[in-house]
Amino acid sequence: MEKELAVKNLDRVISKVEAARLRVSEHHIVKIIGVSKYSTSKDVAMLYSAGQRAFGENKVQDLKQKSQELEELPLEWHFIGRLQKNKINNLIDLNPTLMQSLDSYELALELDKKLELKKKKMSCLLQINSAFEESKTGVDPKEALDIYKKILENCPNIKLKGVMSIGAHSDDKEAIKNSFLITKKIYDEVVSFGAIYCSMGMSSDYELAITCGSNMIRVGSSLFK
Ligand SMILES: *Cc1c(COP(=O)(O)O)cnc(C)c1O
Repeated sequence: MEKELAVKNLDRVISKVEAARLRVSEHHIVKIIGVSKYSTSKDVAMLYSAGQRAFGENKVQDLKQKSQELEELPLEWHFIGRLQKNKINNLIDLNPTLMQSLDSYELALELDKKLELKKKKMSCLLQINSAFEESKTGVDPKEALDIYKKILENCPNIKLKGVMSIGAHSDDKEAIKNSFLITKKIYDEVVSFGAIYCSMGMSSDYELAITCGSNMIRVGSSLFK
């Protein structure tokens, strides 16, 4: 990717985010995470030089490689993929800024135990399967509030900072919107427990996600192409 293209892609996303967030409120601030999973460290460096600072990966190995190759840049790294139990220690060692894909209470307990042993803390989001799709991970929206509270109570090494969802995989805008609204409703319920992030919206649906209340979007293909 050339510098010019990185600037153009980032500017386009920022303009769209700006228009969408102003439809919500002047005070509605949205954080953009550049998802680099199909890209190279060189492309991440290009987007960095265009102004982007936060990036996300869905595999622990890729997060490790890119964050190490780019360690001299002041980047923040988010983990957004399914975390296998045997990779938990590796992820902890990478000190991610935010682990967005805590997708079960069981995983939370396991993660907390390993954090305890390493005397570390990790900021996480609870992933919610608001599209009710079997292919997607995440907790059932009906159980989300309970699980959120249980993690707060029983996992002292996990700093729970909100919720994350992947929108319904559909051409039907109403179905996608509905899945976002389900997650937003849960987010509103956990704000009183300290939640600050409602992470939803990808390249195909981030404007809709923002108008539904998202304040963190994860954008890959629109930035890296
Ligand atoms: C890949 C991925 C994204 C980004 O998807 P794009 O459609 O390329 O923007 C966002 N969130 C998660 C969890 C992903 O795996």
